[in-house]
Amino acid sequence: MDCLFCSIIKGEIPSTKVYEDESVYAFKDINPMAPVHVLIIPKVHLSSINDVTVENSAVIAHIYEVAAKLAKELGIDESGYRVVSNCGADAGQTVFHLHFHLLGGKKLNVEMC
Ligand code: AMP
Ligand code: ZN
Repeated sequence: MDCLFCSIIKGEIPSTKVYEDESVYAFKDINPMAPVHVLIIPKVHLSSINDVTVENSAVIAHIYEVAAKLAKELGIDESGYRVVSNCGADAGQTVFHLHFHLLGGKKLNVEMC
């Protein structure tokens, strides 16, 4: 299967890694929308939130633990940040490997839709 983020996890495509463990990988977004813009992804290939089930949802909880840890390390835990995952066409999802944007370091636009 051809998947950009699976290739990044395997190291076949370069990325600026900020965190890795046995189930999660995090790296800087190539087109940052904020001073801090990190993508946190499960190593297992899930296309989007649509693929989350009771069998695989533990990694999602873990991703939020990693988000909290990275927010602290990157100095945005007190100033505030947003964690967002786009699912499907109407949300503007462009890469179909589930990912969570960690955004912060500036006053973020409050419009959610
Ligand atoms: P989404 O629109 O929610 O699917 O987000 C996909 C994100 O992946 C965008 O913010 C892109 O800038 C980012 N992106 C695409 N290719 C790469 C890459 N090679 N390295 C890092 N980030 C990427
Ligand atoms: Zn993938």
